[in-house]
Amino acid sequence: MAEWHSWVGQVLDVDLTTEKITKKPSDRYFPNFLGGRGLEAKVLWDEVPPEVKAFDPENRIIFAPSTLTGTNSPLNGRWNIGSISPQHPREWPTSSAIGGHWGAELKFAGYDGVIVHGRAKQPVFILIRDHLVEIRNASHLWGMDSFEAQKRLQQDIAKEGPVPDMQEKPSGGRYLPIHIRSVIIGRAGENQSRIACILHDSGDAAGQGGFGGVMGSKNLKAITVRGTGGVKVKDNIRMVETAFKIRKMLRAKALAVVPPYGGPGGLYGGNPKIITGYMKRTDACFGCQVACRGFFDVPGSPPGQAQCVQIQMYYNWEGIGPVAPLHPDFANRPQDETTWHGVKLADYYTINAYELTGILSWLWACYKEGILNEENTGIPFKDFGSKEFAEKLFGMIARREGFGDLLADGLHRTAEKLKEKYGNRVWELYEERYVAHGMRQHWFYIGSAKGPADPTGYPNPVGQLMWAMGSRDPYSNCSFSREPYGAPEEAQMIYGTKDAANPFNYNGKAQAAAIAYTRGCMNDSIGFCDWFFPILARQPFFAQEVPGESTAKQGDITLEAQMFSAATGIEKTIDDLMQDTFRIVNIERASMVRRGRRREDDTFNEYYFNHPDRMGKPIDRPAWEKAKDDFYNYMGWDPKTGIPTRERLEKLGLKDVADTLGV
Ligand code: SF4
Repeated sequence: MAEWHSWVGQVLDVDLTTEKITKKPSDRYFPNFLGGRGLEAKVLWDEVPPEVKAFDPENRIIFAPSTLTGTNSPLNGRWNIGSISPQHPREWPTSSAIGGHWGAELKFAGYDGVIVHGRAKQPVFILIRDHLVEIRNASHLWGMDSFEAQKRLQQDIAKEGPVPDMQEKPSGGRYLPIHIRSVIIGRAGENQSRIACILHDSGDAAGQGGFGGVMGSKNLKAITVRGTGGVKVKDNIRMVETAFKIRKMLRAKALAVVPPYGGPGGLYGGNPKIITGYMKRTDACFGCQVACRGFFDVPGSPPGQAQCVQIQMYYNWEGIGPVAPLHPDFANRPQDETTWHGVKLADYYTINAYELTGILSWLWACYKEGILNEENTGIPFKDFGSKEFAEKLFGMIARREGFGDLLADGLHRTAEKLKEKYGNRVWELYEERYVAHGMRQHWFYIGSAKGPADPTGYPNPVGQLMWAMGSRDPYSNCSFSREPYGAPEEAQMIYGTKDAANPFNYNGKAQAAAIAYTRGCMNDSIGFCDWFFPILARQPFFAQEVPGESTAKQGDITLEAQMFSAATGIEKTIDDLMQDTFRIVNIERASMVRRGRRREDDTFNEYYFNHPDRMGKPIDRPAWEKAKDDFYNYMGWDPKTGIPTRERLEKLGLKDVADTLGV
């Protein structure tokens, strides 16, 4: 591509073993693989053979801004990190979304992504300052918490001033410490915990996937970026016009997620009391006018931002969500400094807050049933829920001490190991709380009345299919997928079938799940925050402020294509973009297939087949298997095996993938 628009033209490849740094032209990846998750999928397929394990030096970890990250497209600050995941019981390739400012900063420095592989001989960090890329010693940062280490990096790098041989001197403001952005790990990552997250700033995290442990396995403490360039777009006026359309549609919807109103699913637990009084302001990712997160300053703990599950992690670990009641033993807990202390402690150590909710819930259940106690674990259960307890337990996990060493490998592996010693009950208690592929239940309930983390117990067939087929929690990029339930017009618009509006059967659900699954991947690749995209419903807040315009409720699901075309100069319809995303989804699937994934792996925990949902029925296995057949057929995957067919792969331009798979 002669001139890049929206992409910036180079991808960095850093080999920590040989210390070789290569700048690859971006046309190897774009426009075909869009960006974000597309870049990850392509690299993991091309460069990581199936025998490579998550913590092997040959594994790649890919830091991938989306196509629109760094432009003036609304809500573009979300981006992704991908790798072979140490968190999954069978180490699938996966991706984790993250927000904040790092992705945009990387593009300002001139890179569409960073691919890291190898293992450094000693702790290092990668420093990217525009065209200057270095691998530097990080021994002085190793062991330091994620907040302190980021501050230290900002101060040290700011002192160094502009990059020596820069032709064009940037304005001074770009050298303020606040513009020096890092992704970083704390002790949990350094000690290769399988549930370690990667943190950016004071609360943005790539949580699920265990990628903090992958950084630790490479002796990589941080990637620090300072960029003084910009991101060129093709048609700025058209982008602004499209952004204006989007903003008008988002205005009323956005109100619902701005604290303290509580958001989709109750962003702050739907309960404005959570840490009320300590919230100083709202906080946003780069380029987002919604600002859905809160920034808190709570006595006795470091200030910072947090949102959603993260903020409830040490308050509502049992329920996760506004609908589920607090555990009766903790129902009178105040939402106070203790809550925040737990949250920030997890961020300090870089332990995945989501996994901690599962661990806390499971530990308490095992304790109440007399299976685990202080004697056999070293965990002071009598202090459960206090600041001291969080310090003790999270510290044990981060340092891999005693029982914490087991938990650092995630609850799936812990329960599996303890089965022999304590009997199957520890496994049952795990299964109640987790859904599939070693992942914690989310509000994205799939239908069981009894699971402690299940807010409603109603079935959700679209969610079931997405949970089973993927390698990540689908609610983290497909939160829109529940919206069409009970709304036939919306179901028709986004899924092409009104049948998908009824959550109580599988009719039309395979098609809906395939579209939602792919559309979620599109969000992760182009760069639209899934809190709001696709926009299914339009709710002008002040009808009079858009005189002459329709006040119809219907949204516009083509806005993503309009923005993409304006930014890149490559004219695409939403159907074109769906085809591009099908390419990404299929190459992701092929990577899993190469690692042995088959139809029988596309399922969730047995618990859900054995326990009734709120309608009094467990999941109907024959109907479920038929829904899977329909899903495979829609995706062009062989229903017998779950492997993509040659016909499908060739149609997507992936003949080489078909050849490698031998289909
Ligand atoms: S809505 Fe929230 S998560 Fe989404 S881009 Fe904006 S600030 Fe980030």
